[in-house]
Amino acid sequence: MAEEEKTKEKEPEAPKNTNAASKTEKSDDDIVIEFEKVSKIYQGKIKAAVDISFKIYMGEFISLVGPSGAGKSTLIRLLTCEEKPSTGRIFVAGRDVTQLRPKELPFYRRKVGVIFQDFKLLPKKTVFENIAFALEVADVPNSQISHDVPKMIEMVGLTKRARAMTEELSGGEKQRVSIARALVHQPKLLIADEPTGNLDPVTTWEIIELLFKINQQGTIVLLATHDKEVVDTLQRRVILMKDGKIVSDQEKGKYLL
Ligand code: ADP
Repeated sequence: MAEEEKTKEKEPEAPKNTNAASKTEKSDDDIVIEFEKVSKIYQGKIKAAVDISFKIYMGEFISLVGPSGAGKSTLIRLLTCEEKPSTGRIFVAGRDVTQLRPKELPFYRRKVGVIFQDFKLLPKKTVFENIAFALEVADVPNSQISHDVPKMIEMVGLTKRARAMTEELSGGEKQRVSIARALVHQPKLLIADEPTGNLDPVTTWEIIELLFKINQQGTIVLLATHDKEVVDTLQRRVILMKDGKIVSDQEKGKYLL
């Protein structure tokens, strides 16, 4: 009971609409991502995505909801180009990313940050090393790594833990590291795939607040979640999927299943 009260106290007001998402009129100039009649059929019969069309605009914070098996992960994998659609086109910043050549994919993926429920960190490496690694594999010079990584660590509020092994961190701290790592290439889009699935309610809100801060600094956030309370409090756009289709897309949506 005491824990429940603490959780309630901690819940934030719906964040103020100070970014582009607050605009009531959307301009075609602000389209960053567009799915155009996208379908994904597995093994010739499993319809994971069916004729999906939608646009994502600059500055948006979008929740992606739907029951298990609805097609949310498929949609995310299409967006990160881990999967190609069976039919349809996906434009990101005006480019059809379904046509990217294999050697272009690493560059594209740096512009799409992804965080996961299970963090996917290197446990025997420090916070600093985990984030630096994402830059090292992209051949970023050491001087830039020494400059950029502490800034990212500060942004996610982990300066005091920079030299700790990630296996020693709490779940919330681990998710902060993975957020810093996902943002280190300054992506246009951050995909958060059930980022609070392993976190307690208080930590959940701390992470959601951090995602808001990132959104307000100009990064689109696409949050796939089962957390009804989070979605309802956000009062932002909600895309609901069922059976591979978008069955509702609401500006200030609620978690309706
Ligand atoms: P969600 O993320 O909403 O739970 P998924 O995108 O994982 O949904 O799955 C949508 C449908 O596609 C499900 O029926 C699932 O079993 C199927 N599916 C997903 N990935 C594959 C795959 N690689 N091969 C075959 N079927 C798949």
